[in-house]
Amino acid sequence: MPKLPEDQHITYQLQYRKCGKSTCSTCKNGFGHGPYWYAYWREGTKLRSGYIGKTQPEGISTTLASKAAERVLSHSEKALVNAAVKTEY
Ligand SMILES: [Zn+2]
Repeated sequence: MPKLPEDQHITYQLQYRKCGKSTCSTCKNGFGHGPYWYAYWREGTKLRSGYIGKTQPEGISTTLASKAAERVLSHSEKALVNAAVKTEY
């Protein structure tokens, strides 16, 4: 779990990722590995991101997390599904 800022809006994305190995059957036959959660936030003018993993981020509700999972599963491999959830501070 990366250190996430506590004074910023964080956008979470649930994504499949390709590992790039030509021998990987997971990538060849499906969307890739995952889905994994990633966090995006701004630090000044820079967009930062952090890998969270399979665990649902603390900042979002179970309902939103399952909706995000539905969306990512119904998309094609190339669509980065934006299951954006903004946390309120
Ligand atoms: Zn792979």
